[in-house]
Amino acid sequence: MNAPSALRNVRAAGELRIEWPDGARQQLSHARLRAACPCAQCRAARLRGHIDVVGEGVRLREMVPQGYGVQLSFDDGHERGIYPWGYLRELA
Ligand SMILES: [Zn+2]
Repeated sequence: MNAPSALRNVRAAGELRIEWPDGARQQLSHARLRAACPCAQCRAARLRGHIDVVGEGVRLREMVPQGYGVQLSFDDGHERGIYPWGYLRELA
């Protein structure tokens, strides 16, 4: 899976905008991203059927590219999730 050609955090809209090398575009709300956090802790919680209530007001604070994906830090203090590119694309 190739990295996106552009990755833009539009805080005012609460959205992450992604452009892929094949021209596809994606918009993901920060709340949706937070709810889909792929870290071991959040995955385990979802497997147990625990539905996290994620406030619509949660905002993406920082993005740190990690080669195969991007680490996202949210303003609720959670920053453990590294989202592989393929996973991000499937969230559309
Ligand atoms: Zn998590």
